[in-house]
Amino acid sequence: MGRAMIVTRFAPSPTGHLHLGNLRAALFSWALARKAGGRFILRLDDTDPERSRPEFADSIRRDLEWLGLTWDEELRQSGRAERHREAAEALKAAGRLYPCFESEAELAARRRARRARGLPPVYDRAALRLSAEARAARAGWTAPHWRFLLPDGQSGWTDAILGAQAIDLAHVSDPVLIRSDGVVLYTLASVVDDADLGITDVIRGADHVTNTAVQIALFRALGAEPPRFAHHGLVTLPGGEALSKRAAALSLGALRAAGVEPLALLSLMARLGSPAPVEPFLSHEEIVRDFDLGRFGAAPVVLEPDAPARLSARLLRALPHGAVAARLAALGIPAEVAPALWAAVRGNIARLEEAADWWAICRDGPGPVDHGADAAFVTQALALLPDPPWHGGSWAEWTAAVGAATGRRGAALYRPLRRALTGRDSGPEMAALMPLMRVRPAPPA
Ligand code: GLU
Repeated sequence: MGRAMIVTRFAPSPTGHLHLGNLRAALFSWALARKAGGRFILRLDDTDPERSRPEFADSIRRDLEWLGLTWDEELRQSGRAERHREAAEALKAAGRLYPCFESEAELAARRRARRARGLPPVYDRAALRLSAEARAARAGWTAPHWRFLLPDGQSGWTDAILGAQAIDLAHVSDPVLIRSDGVVLYTLASVVDDADLGITDVIRGADHVTNTAVQIALFRALGAEPPRFAHHGLVTLPGGEALSKRAAALSLGALRAAGVEPLALLSLMARLGSPAPVEPFLSHEEIVRDFDLGRFGAAPVVLEPDAPARLSARLLRALPHGAVAARLAALGIPAEVAPALWAAVRGNIARLEEAADWWAICRDGPGPVDHGADAAFVTQALALLPDPPWHGGSWAEWTAAVGAATGRRGAALYRPLRRALTGRDSGPEMAALMPLMRVRPAPPA
C-alpha cells in the first residue's frame, strides 16, 4: 500500500551552529515534503546532555527561519525519553538488547587482537555468552551499557540517491543503544521518533549509511516499517578539505552577517552536485518546483568558498523590485523612488543593504569629493550642469557638452564626472541614477 503523505524531518544536534554542509539535508528534506504537499518536521537531537545547548537550538531555528525553511512541527528528543525507554524495554523483553560490561580499554584491546588475527574489528558478543551468574556478579559492581543484537545477513534498501545498497551486518558491531549512565543514544532515539512520527523519507548525509543498515534492523525489531532513505554526498572545500574546518566562516550565521541572500544559499544547494547548472532561483516556490532528489549523485560535492557571495550578487541582479520592496522600505528608501532605484543599482551591489548607500548619495549628494588634478576640469564641467531634476537623457547631454567644451573623451571624461556626482569611481549606469539624484554637487573647493 502506498503511503498517504510524505513526512520528512531535519534532525540537527544542537551542539553547534548550522553551516553550509548541514544545509543540504535541511533543504532536501524540506523541498521533498513541500513538493509533495507533505509535512516537514524539525527534530532537535539533544540526547547528549553534555554537548546540547539551548542557545544552539535557538540559533538553528533562527537560521531556518531566515532561510524560509518553515517547519510544521518541532520536537526535542530529550522530551521523548519516556518513549525511548519503552522501546528499550520492548527490545530487552524480545532478547534484542543485552547488557555489556566491558570498559573502553578492554574493547580497544579486543579490537586490536581481532585485527592481528585478520578478523574485522567488530564486537565479539562476549557479553552475550556470560552465564547468568557471571552477569549478575558484574552487574553488582558496574552498571551495564546495552547493545542491540543485530540480525545475521545483509541489511539492504533502495536508496533514493545511492541506489541499491546492501551492508553485511557481520561487519558491523552490535551498536550500543544505551550508555552505562542510562542515556539512550541517537541510534535508538532516532528510530523510535521516526517510527512514532510516521516519517516516510529520511534524507541525510552519506556519513550515515552504516547507521541506516543498523537502523533498518531496529525498525524491524520494533515492529515498524522502515522509511525510505536517501544519503547525499557530503560538502567539502576544494582540495577535499572538510567544511567543518572552516565551519565558522561558512556557518549560516556568518553568511547572513556577510549579507548573503538566503535564496542564494538555497539556490546553490538546490543544484550543486547535480547535472543541472547552479542558477539563482527567485523564490522558494521555484526551488520546490525544480527539486528532484533523483538527480543528485553520491560523490562529495565541492564548494568554492566564494560561491555563496557570487551567487548572491547574481540573484540580486535578477530580483524584481516586488521581491525586495519590503526590505527596501525597511532601509528607509521611499516607495516612490524604490522601483527606479532598485532597477538602477541591483546589478552593481554585492548585498542588498548597499541600495541604501546609493539612495543616500541620490538624496544628499556625495559629500566632499577630492578631485585632485581634475579639480579645474570638474569646476568647468559643473558650470555646464543644469539644476536637478534630471532625466534619463541628462547624463548623455551633460557629458556631450563637457566633452565638446574640454576635448576630453573616454574614461578621462566620464570618470571625474561620475565622481563629481557620486563620489565613487564605479557604480550603476549614470543615465539610470541621475533622474533619482536630487542634489547638485558643490564645485571643488
Ligand atoms: N542528529 C543526526 C545528525 O545530525 C541526525 C541524522 C539523521 O538525520 O538521522 O547527524
